[in-house]
Amino acid sequence: LEKEKKEKERIEKEVKERTYELEQANKKLDLISRTDELTQLPNRRDMHRTIEKEVDRANRFRKAFSIIFIDIDHFKDVNDTYGHAAGDAVLKSVASTIRSLLRKYDVLARYGGEEFLTLLPETELKDASHVAERFRKQIENQTIFFGGQEIKVTITLGVAQFDSSQGAEKCIQLADKALYEGKEHGRNKVILWTDDKPVENAQP
Ligand code: GH3
Ligand code: MG
Ligand code: MG
Repeated sequence: LEKEKKEKERIEKEVKERTYELEQANKKLDLISRTDELTQLPNRRDMHRTIEKEVDRANRFRKAFSIIFIDIDHFKDVNDTYGHAAGDAVLKSVASTIRSLLRKYDVLARYGGEEFLTLLPETELKDASHVAERFRKQIENQTIFFGGQEIKVTITLGVAQFDSSQGAEKCIQLADKALYEGKEHGRNKVILWTDDKPVENAQP
């Protein structure tokens, strides 16, 4: 009987350990599925979940939020000139530079190849445009060293504020439209979507 009891305890202990290991493995898998491998930023899918949560908060508590859409200028040329590995290094560097400028609750995600999205909770358009301008300047002034080469890039940014009557998809769409306008008008710019039209950030 004593033997049976011991055996039961041994099995219970083993089940506990296995359950813990499984939980840890699941957590790891979940994190991997939400993360972009190259930059270690949240990926597009995870960003959509984060934005949906922010929409709920915005609607319930009447909070503002804004979105910054970021695209590296002439990134294809970086790959063509310096090689794909250099391009990867530039992506990592741009990601970590912007991340270093985020405020406490801002979230940065890799949204596509050389596109990033920033969610700025409780932030109105004007303040978001200041944040975007800080990103733009910092990237403009930075040199990326890779394989003995010095690489410089710029970014174009589109900014839009969430409107609860239009939804999050619309907000992302407007930020993208503003970004496109910045590309059309010379790149290395911050463009705000305001009063149904794109406007270049006026401040220096
Ligand atoms: P624009 O100023 O209009 O944005 O021009 P662009 O060259 O940046 O834009 P385009 O869309 O023509 O090119 C984007 C390039 O980004 C093409 C693609 O090969 C490259 N790219 C996408 N993902 C990665 C990646 O993970 N690593 C590297 N090295 N390149 C990537
Ligand atoms: Mg692009
Ligand atoms: Mg680009």
